[in-house]
Amino acid sequence: MNKPVLLVVDDDPQVLAAVRRDLRSRYREAYTVVSASSGQEALSTARELKGRGDALAMVISDQRMPGMLGGELLALSREVYPLARRVLLTAYSDIEAAIRAINEAHLDHYLSKPWDPPEEKLYPVVDDLLDAWQAESLPEATGLRLIGHQWATRSHAIKDFLASSLIPYRWLDVERDAEARTLLEAANIPSDALPVLIFEDGSVLTNPEPRQVAERLGRPLLAAFDVYDLVVVGAGPAGLAAAVYGASEGLRTILLDRHAPGGQAGSSSRIENYLGFPAGVSGSDLTRRAITQAQRLGAEVLAPLEVTGVSIDGGYKHLALTDGRELVTRTMLASTGMFYREHPAPGVAEHTGAGVYYGAATTEAPAFRGRRVLVVGGGNSAGQGAMHLARYAADVQIVVRREGLGETMSRYLIEQIEKTPNIRLRPRAEIASVEGEGHVERVTLRFLEDGSCRSEEADAVFVFIGTRPRTDWLPAGVLRDAKGFVLTGRDLMAAEPYARTWKEQREPLLLETSVPGIFAAGDVRAGAMNRVASAVGEGSMVVRLAHEYLALT
Ligand SMILES: Cc1cc2nc3c(=O)[nH]c(=O)nc-3n(C[C@H](O)[C@H](O)[C@H](O)COP(=O)(O)OP(=O)(O)OC[C@H]3O[C@@H](n4cnc5c(N)ncnc54)[C@H](O)[C@@H]3O)c2cc1C
Repeated sequence: MNKPVLLVVDDDPQVLAAVRRDLRSRYREAYTVVSASSGQEALSTARELKGRGDALAMVISDQRMPGMLGGELLALSREVYPLARRVLLTAYSDIEAAIRAINEAHLDHYLSKPWDPPEEKLYPVVDDLLDAWQAESLPEATGLRLIGHQWATRSHAIKDFLASSLIPYRWLDVERDAEARTLLEAANIPSDALPVLIFEDGSVLTNPEPRQVAERLGRPLLAAFDVYDLVVVGAGPAGLAAAVYGASEGLRTILLDRHAPGGQAGSSSRIENYLGFPAGVSGSDLTRRAITQAQRLGAEVLAPLEVTGVSIDGGYKHLALTDGRELVTRTMLASTGMFYREHPAPGVAEHTGAGVYYGAATTEAPAFRGRRVLVVGGGNSAGQGAMHLARYAADVQIVVRREGLGETMSRYLIEQIEKTPNIRLRPRAEIASVEGEGHVERVTLRFLEDGSCRSEEADAVFVFIGTRPRTDWLPAGVLRDAKGFVLTGRDLMAAEPYARTWKEQREPLLLETSVPGIFAAGDVRAGAMNRVASAVGEGSMVVRLAHEYLALT
């Protein structure tokens, strides 16, 4: 296998030579640096590389070139190598064009010329983007392969677990890929044992549970200690932030998640409004960075591991885990977020995992290349899901009960949707039923103006509505509002049962619940802002508050 390629493009021979020199001096061991002097030449080089089966990791292109602008080249290069990282090289006077290109062509970064010293201005950016590329890409013939039926719920569960756990794998649909059948025959695996995972060393796991996959991949599933200063339950942005701050501030910290780290944010194809990422950041990239940071600072991270209950013994909290074990801690953070409630329309439950998916657009989108899909919901998560699906599906329809998206979706997403020709809005409509033999084939829409219904062909429905907090595992003493969201701090003091419940001589701390030493942060908390940044902010604050609580006890 040849080394992956870094392609640099500039019509100015001096600049081209300088980028090539700087990239070679640092990356030549692991990558081949290839150059082109125009957009057209770069595109034909990319197509040649593709024809030879080589990997292209990054394209760095100058903006101002005759014939084809850098932004246009980078947009076109995505059609040849969708995963390659794309960087625009600009003069200071072109920064506006670069920002426009980030919005229109979804570039990963822009670099201003000159980039001296490269150790400060070039390599950190390239290192970071190459790390992200490596985490996503997998050589065709090697690595982990998952074989199964596209419409089987079990296949979807394992796909979702691998993707959320940031484990690169190759999906082979047993009905479509001849290679899948050859591999099954070679390994003597009957078709009723699917889905099956084939590892790089040839070993197999048939119809596995996510926990078995994690074990087989050597992920830690047992806590190193019996007693912790801080147990964080739920590894979405709030929990990840608490783990980073807890570990860095000397608390013995462990982070648990029932599924995989990342939470709702992990399923986002592109978070555009998180501070410090001008080109946006995918949920998986943000999660990968956060886990690395938390572990580097000394936090333990265990997943999949669910907390099923909590009992209180003086100042200590005992957490019951699904594996039958128990963890003891002095402070605890509930950062278990929210999940999508089941859509009540007939046919939805039977087709869940077989064409109906809850917020799982990033995992399943490639399976719907050239097909017709519906997105239900008008919030930002639905908008992002639709944008991501539009890269694959021929026709994406957003079904909303309101007149439009103006009241529920951010302006930047509405603008992106309006500019995407294969996305259509179906306003004042709802899903009345979902039908199909073994998988979704048709959807009946009900139009709210006159109550009429129409059946239409569809291959999948992605549901992004009806969120509910995950709080059923918390002890009854943790007060919640009428919808089940956890009350903290001042909101708690305003609640009617507060006087009966709170027995301390002090007021509850800002994010403290009605059980002293149990905190709540992020979407699970009553009054949360439902944003990545606010969840991260609250998770970080909890560590200060945990210190305060520990000093009081
Ligand atoms: C598709 C999508 C796109 C979005 N885009 C944006 C955006 O662009 N910008 C933005 O600011 N916000 C965005 N959001 C909202 C943002 O992702 C959430 O506000 C944020 O993730 C909330 O973080 P959290 O840590 O509170 O909870 P969550 O992210 O919900 O994480 C909770 C975690 O707890 C785990 N868990 C639950 N119960 C248990 C248990 N009993 N034991 C162990 N673990 C448990 C879950 O598995 C989950 O991983 C988006 C949301 C979605 C779904």
